[in-house]
Amino acid sequence: MADYAPVRGCMIVRPYGWTLWENIQQALDRRFKATGHVNAAFPLLIPKSFIEREKSHVEGFSPELAVVTVGGGKELEEPLVIRPTSETIIGHAYARWIQSYRDLPVLINQWNSVVRWELRTKLFLRTLEFFWQEGHTAHATYEEAQSETLQMLDIYADFAVKDAAIPVIPGRKSESERFAGADQTYSIEAMMGDGKALQSATSHNLGQNFAKAFDIRYLDKEGRLQYCWTTSWGLSTRMVGAIVMVHGDDQGMILPPRLAPIQAVIVPIYKNDSEQAQVVEAGRRLRAQLAAADIRVKLDEREGTTPGFKFNDWEMRGVPLRIELGPRDVAKASVVLARRDRPGKEGKSVVPQAGLLEAVTKSLAEVQSSLYERALAFREANTHQPADYEEFKAAVETGFAFSHWCGGGECEGQIKEETKATVRCIPLEQPETEGSCIRCGRPARERAIFGKAY
Ligand SMILES: [Zn+2]
Repeated sequence: MADYAPVRGCMIVRPYGWTLWENIQQALDRRFKATGHVNAAFPLLIPKSFIEREKSHVEGFSPELAVVTVGGGKELEEPLVIRPTSETIIGHAYARWIQSYRDLPVLINQWNSVVRWELRTKLFLRTLEFFWQEGHTAHATYEEAQSETLQMLDIYADFAVKDAAIPVIPGRKSESERFAGADQTYSIEAMMGDGKALQSATSHNLGQNFAKAFDIRYLDKEGRLQYCWTTSWGLSTRMVGAIVMVHGDDQGMILPPRLAPIQAVIVPIYKNDSEQAQVVEAGRRLRAQLAAADIRVKLDEREGTTPGFKFNDWEMRGVPLRIELGPRDVAKASVVLARRDRPGKEGKSVVPQAGLLEAVTKSLAEVQSSLYERALAFREANTHQPADYEEFKAAVETGFAFSHWCGGGECEGQIKEETKATVRCIPLEQPETEGSCIRCGRPARERAIFGKAY
């Protein structure tokens, strides 16, 4: 999937990992375009003064900036930062592009990479440079910006559930976890296979903060000059890490069929040259049939490796379906289908070659939904509603606690110090009942998801 790079904290994404990312991109891009967004590209280098214009933005990002001070052998008059995110440079462009209410809304996304000088890094989860998309929109009213913010959160949740087979909790971030410069940050939170949380995408209502910093204004219908309301939202290569950590088992990865670079692999089994010729020829024919129906299929023709080695290799890579093809299968015009999510006999079935496409299509759909169901059952089994703080401490050791919280930063800080758990989000879906804060006991209107996070 990936390799370490010569620069600490950077990663080389290898073709298999990149293809998975491309499939994620396509699944999201389709949804962005269906809701009226278009793609564009903004520069990698940003004048340092831009970052300094929005007060909380500069406070949040300063410690993580990579700065270019020399260009073409000369000291630059103004240092340039390598974008950590693009609100500022895009705000600068929007100020020039937007004149009147007729120019609104502006709905632009870009696929790019950004650099944040992180101290502790981990492949896919936290890297100095990471790949993502960042959407940036400008609207005439607060209500439109808020509905855009929530619409994009919905799109991320829909993608996570349907394509990545990952159950997520959409919710609002606490004040301390908000994006630097946002009025409100929303996220989708997922539980990994070890019970820890991973923030899997974020959507921000930026209010008029960046509009004021970059003078993004428009003339309304009455001819009055107004500041725009802006949003931004992003999902990154962290999602690859989430897929690996949610679905994997001791044998390696299990990739959800809708995103898997290879959905089915055909492994020919033979003992001698004549058997080889026979099964490989049948394999090629079946491969062509499946490929013609847009199944992402590979025929493993590698020589000098045993079928057992190939089975393990593709299991480790998480290919959802294996198609075993030996001389007896060729004679009977059948194959053996094996599901990656159900190792052993239980996941195997004999299928006639004539009905292979139907069987493969059906099995892929079954693997997709069973991965989701399994992840959901795991999350539910590891999410508790503790009765008191002692139970709360035990709950966040192994998973999530869904607890009333007064909303106070003091309790949030104490909980973090005492348990290492943070407020992952305040779920949009809330039970009716009021309660008392799990830490201080004061009345609390909302419940939050607490957990240890990556
Ligand atoms: Zn409290």
